[in-house]
Amino acid sequence: MGEFELIRNFFAAAPCAQTGEGVVLGIGDDCALLAVPPGEQLAISTDTLVVGVHFPEACDPFLLGQRALAVAASDLAAMGATPLAFTLALTLPDVDPDWLQAFAHGLNLMAQSCSLSLVGGDTTRGPLSLTMTVFGRVPAGQALTRSGARPGDLLCVGGPLGDAAGALPLVLNQRSAEASIAHALLAQYWSPQPQLALGLALRGKATAALDISDGLLADCGHIALASGVRVVVDRDALPLSAPLTTFLGLEAARNAALSGGDDYVLAFTLPASQLAGLLAAGFSVHVVGRVVAGQGVALIDGAGQDVTPSTRGYQHFRETP
Ligand code: ADP
Ligand code: MG
Repeated sequence: MGEFELIRNFFAAAPCAQTGEGVVLGIGDDCALLAVPPGEQLAISTDTLVVGVHFPEACDPFLLGQRALAVAASDLAAMGATPLAFTLALTLPDVDPDWLQAFAHGLNLMAQSCSLSLVGGDTTRGPLSLTMTVFGRVPAGQALTRSGARPGDLLCVGGPLGDAAGALPLVLNQRSAEASIAHALLAQYWSPQPQLALGLALRGKATAALDISDGLLADCGHIALASGVRVVVDRDALPLSAPLTTFLGLEAARNAALSGGDDYVLAFTLPASQLAGLLAAGFSVHVVGRVVAGQGVALIDGAGQDVTPSTRGYQHFRETP
C-alpha cells in the first residue's frame, strides 16, 4: 500500500474527515481552509507523542488514537476554545493495515466526541510518532490564558487528579491491580475526556486556566510565573478517586496528583463570587487552594504548615530532578 492509498483508506475516508462546520476545504489539497467567524480568533496547539517516550511500543492502537487526540484537544479546553479541526502528522515504521484500522477507529471516535474535523496531515516512514495540531475558535479577547490570576482568587480543578499517573505502572506492566481498580485507572490514562464544556463555561469567569499535564504543582508554577502571583495548594483538599487511594494509599495518591502528570483536567483560578454559578450549572469544580501576592507555588497541609516537596513534575531534557 502506497502513501496516498494509506491516507485515502484510513484517514480521508474516516467520518471525522468529512467536512465539518468551519471547514471550507479538508484533506486532499496543499492546505486545508478554515473559516473563522468575524470577531473570533484561532486557538492552535501542537502535541507530539513518541513511541518509547510517551507510550509503550506494544500499546493498543485504538487506545493510542483516542488518547493522542484527547491530549491535544485538552489544550483547546484549557483556552476556552470551541473545537474546529485538527491535522495528523504520522510517522510509521511500516504499513500495518490492522494497526492503522484500529488507530484510525480510536482517533475517529475521539474526534467525533470532541467535534474536531480531520483536515490534513503528513505521512512519513520512521520510528512511530504522532503529531497532532488542533485548531479552535474563541471570541477575540476571551481566551483563558495563564496570566490573569489575581491575589484573592480561588485555585480550582475540574475533577479528581492522579488517576493517570497511578495507572502508569499498570500501563507498563510493572504492577497489577484488582480488575475494577485497574479498569478505572486505565480508563483515565487511555481515554482522558478533554474538559471542553468546562473550558467554555469558564470564559469570562476564570482569570487563568491550563490543563494539567505535568502534575498540579508544576502546572500551578506556570500560572504563578505568568500571572506574577503565588499559588498556595492545600494538600488535604485534593480530589482523589477511591480506586487511586485504594491502589496506592493516601500519601502516594497525593503525590500522583501533585507531581504525576497526564491528568488532562483543567486547573484554573476563579474569583470566589463565580464558584456557586459553576457548581449550580453542574460542573465538577474542586477548590484546592488560593492565589496570594508573591511568587512560586507552595503546598500546605491542613494545619497551614508548608510541606512543599523539592521535586515538581516531569520535564524532558532535565538532568536531575
Ligand atoms: P503535500 O505533499 O502537498 O504536503 P501530501 O502529499 O503530504 O501533501 O498529502 C496529501 C494530502 O493528504 C494533504 O491534503 C495532506 O494534508 C493529507 N494528509 C497526509 N497525511 C495525512 C494524514 N496522516 N492524515 C490526514 N491527512 C493527511
Ligand atoms: Mg503541497
